[in-house]
Amino acid sequence: MTRILVVEDDPDVAVALRVLLGRAGYEVVAAADGREGLRRLFADRPDLMVLDIGLPPGLDGWQVLDRTRDMTDLPVLLLSARGAESDRVRGLRAGADDYLPKPFGNEELLARVEALLRRAAPALWSGAAQDRSLRLVPDRRSAVWHGEEVRLSDIEYGLLQVLVRNRGRVVTTDQLLAQVWDDPQGIGRDRVKFAVLRLRRKLQQAAHDPGPDPIEAVRGLGYRYRADPGD
Ligand code: CA
Repeated sequence: MTRILVVEDDPDVAVALRVLLGRAGYEVVAAADGREGLRRLFADRPDLMVLDIGLPPGLDGWQVLDRTRDMTDLPVLLLSARGAESDRVRGLRAGADDYLPKPFGNEELLARVEALLRRAAPALWSGAAQDRSLRLVPDRRSAVWHGEEVRLSDIEYGLLQVLVRNRGRVVTTDQLLAQVWDDPQGIGRDRVKFAVLRLRRKLQQAAHDPGPDPIEAVRGLGYRYRADPGD
């Protein structure tokens, strides 16, 4: 059963979310403040987190998001009382996968949760192996490739993460632009090409015997991560 962690201090909203998500067939775990949220995140290993930005003093949503990203890349849907564009941009930059201003419609929230779960492979947790040749280290924004740690830029890490999550499947250039660069219009297509080149070069240089290039270009479409054939 897909498990969703809801971190929300407003009891009315928390109950509404619990009922809504529960009726939609999800298992819901709730936390009313940031510390509890992180504790539940660690203990319950949810598949997705719905996170309110405005939490009681102690840890706000931004801090929770920041610490979450040290642990895992699970999909995070941010909720904010303010629909300000700056919050949206800040949230996406800080590693949230989507953003929904309050008040939100039930159907919209469910649609976004479904979309996030659909495009996410099982969350990667810090230290967990991804395949024999590659392991992503979320808290260090790096990759261990054939035993050698490769430090990556945020863009390179995001790119590799999306490709690995979709291993074996082609991810289109536009999807990469939307997910890694927050550029849904796909204006900067060359950026993808150059970032992939940088990423490949780094991986190639890190390993003594790197074997075949794990990132395959699919002409006219996008890119695909090839899992280690030994897996
Ligand atoms: Ca709140």
